[in-house]
Amino acid sequence: MAVLDILQYPDERLKQLSVEVSNFDTSLQYFINDLLETMYAGPGGVGIAAPQVGYFKRIAIVDVSKNPKLVSNGCMILINPEIKKWEGMKIGREGCMSVPDFTGNVIRAEAIEVHAQNVEGKWQTFSCVGYEARAVQHELDHLDGLLFLDRLVSRRTDLFQRKKYKKK
Ligand SMILES: [Zn+2]
Repeated sequence: MAVLDILQYPDERLKQLSVEVSNFDTSLQYFINDLLETMYAGPGGVGIAAPQVGYFKRIAIVDVSKNPKLVSNGCMILINPEIKKWEGMKIGREGCMSVPDFTGNVIRAEAIEVHAQNVEGKWQTFSCVGYEARAVQHELDHLDGLLFLDRLVSRRTDLFQRKKYKKK
């Protein structure tokens, strides 16, 4: 296993559209293990998408289960994911390993149903709410070459510099 390098904004490759996965072989399993390790190594570490490490396939991982207060499905490996249902709208703060210096306010659906294949190619459906639903929508955007920066309500009022050092 290996921690992979994360592409960072404004790297143009982050705008690339990712293609469907069609081979569910051992190399896919190895790649997903590396992607998991990279996600858990990062700050926050609740989600990652394959294009963030320069692999332009429709693969995303979301795991918000470290926070026991959040409703979650545990670690979701989402291959060729599609959102089938959306409900509600909520504004919330997002960060991204590819945009390390900023956070921003983005409007997302509050509840979604996502249909995706697992590492063996089996289709599964997950119902996600709240922060987990937000994380899934954020990661799936990466597969279409979109960053949260592209969805800010306003760049003037909804983009925030991350504090690198805590002031006393
Ligand atoms: Zn991101």
